[in-house]
Amino acid sequence: MPDVFADLVGQDEAVVELRRAAAAAAAVLRAGATALVAAGPVSGDALAADDAATGALDPSAGMTHAWIFTGPPGSGRSVAARAFAAALQCVHGTGCGECPGCRTTMGGTHADVRLVVPEGLSIGVGEMRALVLRAASTPSGGRWQVVVIEDADRLTEAAGNALLKAIEEPPPRTVFLLCAPSTHPDDISVTIRSRCRVVPLRQPPATAVAEVLVRRDGIAPDVAQWAAAAAQGHVGRARRLARDPEARKRREAVLAVPRRLTGVGAAFDAASALIEAAEAEAEASVTESDTTERASLETALGAGGTGRGASGAIRGAAGQLKELEKRQKSRATRAQRDALDRALVDLAGFYRDALTMALRAPVAPVHTDTAALAGAGAQKWDAEGSLRRLEAVLACRAAIEANVKPRIAVEAMMLALWKG
Ligand SMILES: [Zn+2]
Repeated sequence: MPDVFADLVGQDEAVVELRRAAAAAAAVLRAGATALVAAGPVSGDALAADDAATGALDPSAGMTHAWIFTGPPGSGRSVAARAFAAALQCVHGTGCGECPGCRTTMGGTHADVRLVVPEGLSIGVGEMRALVLRAASTPSGGRWQVVVIEDADRLTEAAGNALLKAIEEPPPRTVFLLCAPSTHPDDISVTIRSRCRVVPLRQPPATAVAEVLVRRDGIAPDVAQWAAAAAQGHVGRARRLARDPEARKRREAVLAVPRRLTGVGAAFDAASALIEAAEAEAEASVTESDTTERASLETALGAGGTGRGASGAIRGAAGQLKELEKRQKSRATRAQRDALDRALVDLAGFYRDALTMALRAPVAPVHTDTAALAGAGAQKWDAEGSLRRLEAVLACRAAIEANVKPRIAVEAMMLALWKG
């Protein structure tokens, strides 16, 4: 049975640091436990012993209260945070992968591990306050209260402040694990950053990604190698490409774009096609959960009830349904942006291939299946023209990230790709 860090692909240094921290955390608990036994069941003494235990929680001791996992998308930020959470809850303090602490954490059911996965574009202050409040309680399993915040870069300012307060004055047994693309002030506030230990993850090499696809997912080696290269170090994306024919079809459509750009009209057509494909992909991913959520909320609200009090319930229900719709719309927008961003990353890979070929750089192409086409582009555009096109794709991603309307950004990009 592999331990909880086994899925963290190509991140050897981070794993060493996290193992050391988990061991230090376990030592803190052991020290605390001995002191508690020695002091007897008097609550005042128990509190003092608790303070002594947390006194060991300084960075030099290998363990600290707040962590930030950074790295490019797909590098495994949230995988690392969850694995570390499991190691903290592991009865052996190692993340063995077998004990109840490890299993329930990895399965998402541990009572002392709270996971915030933002579905919309931001994490609001209400959600954060509730979370901070619950995180301050004594861990029911006797180890740690762990709060994992995925995409901490999506915290609103007010939510960030609520979190900062908790990190500045941490409850004795609470550990915050934040995930963000980087420690740039755009992603995480300087004040939060200054209170956290940073664990930088790198883009895992394609060979490591392919290896894990073969080992864990039973994917054929040649398919795994192709998918790992095409996904550019994004483990989840590589797995989807290897397994899901729809994902492969969408990727092929994106990679057909450079061929299709034969004029202004074609550029606008290509922009529409890309936007609509992202919308369709996003819709497929959220429709099912939207319907289930609405149905369960309606059931909970007793829709169709005719008894006394039903009309009052319906008035309250309208507000809750509206709230749900708002949340679902926010999630749909996020899903669309994510789908579009994946398409842009694929497209950037194509122009990167053209650029490296024009420069005769000794690196393997990202997209082996369109390598010939990229080679033709390299001849036609030369390094300079290839670079301009690559930059147009990256500028489009940046514009969408800065809230430019996706259609406008994509149209501008397609025109730039056509004109060169
Ligand atoms: Zn364990």
